[in-house]
Amino acid sequence: MVQPSFSLTGKVALVTGASRGLGQGMAVGLAEAGADVIGAGISNMTETREQVEALGRTFYEIKADLSEAMAAKQLVIEAINQAGKIDILVNNAGIIKRSEAESFSDEDWNAVINVNLNSVFQLCREVGQHMLERGSGKIINIASMLSFQGGLRVPAYTASKHAVAGLTKSLANEWVSKGINVNAIAPGYMETDNTEALRANEERNAYITSRIPKGEWGKPEDLKGPVVFLASDASSYVNGHILCVDGGWMSS
Ligand code: NAD
Repeated sequence: MVQPSFSLTGKVALVTGASRGLGQGMAVGLAEAGADVIGAGISNMTETREQVEALGRTFYEIKADLSEAMAAKQLVIEAINQAGKIDILVNNAGIIKRSEAESFSDEDWNAVINVNLNSVFQLCREVGQHMLERGSGKIINIASMLSFQGGLRVPAYTASKHAVAGLTKSLANEWVSKGINVNAIAPGYMETDNTEALRANEERNAYITSRIPKGEWGKPEDLKGPVVFLASDASSYVNGHILCVDGGWMSS
């Protein structure tokens, strides 16, 4: 039997928000599978660079504040200038703001929607044009359990992640016949800076942990296998799928 290919040798992956957390875990996972990595975001990427380079892969670092309207376009131009091409796009950068819905400010709403949704669409569009010209590509958007559920005190985040799921399916329909697969990963509750406030709340933490069938929060490394699968030839007939990586949360 011919084994499916998970190898990413010779591929270039653009990962946003690769400095820490899930973005760092996925950037290193992609490098372990053979890809060179372009890390883009606002934070220092030294730690990720060291891990990617230790694997013998090239790491390109591009500063980009994805809350700014023109950032995506400039980032893609710069990325292609430096690395020559983009085979894989992982839209990972994201933020969360917590407050009761009745007092949730416009400022927080716009901040979350700009980074979590507007920049994701803009990057898909800009990188999509490049991939369409080349006739191939893999786009992986980072969704959430809150692409399916409402959450508490996070109305903008929930709205943005529901929209990311819809955008993923919309682009998947348009582009799969042209060689581009568009899918999403919906992480469950993972130990990163993004969930620090939740984990610090003893009551919420205990409730969440008790609802996860696996009995523990996930870690950035848990996304390595899923992202490599969706970035590789092994998933060429997988399209418009939202892959939950959640220790069973959605089934419980
Ligand atoms: P994190 O806060 O640890 O990391 C976020 C990354 O995004 C950082 O590298 C940060 O610098 C970057 N970033 C933030 N604002 C940016 C901006 N304006 N421009 C460019 N980069 C910016 O968060 P994380 O938990 O690793 O989350 C990564 C993604 O996974 C997010 O989209 C998040 O919504 C999603 N997610 C996380 C969890 C979880 O439990 N941690 C669950 C579901 C989905």
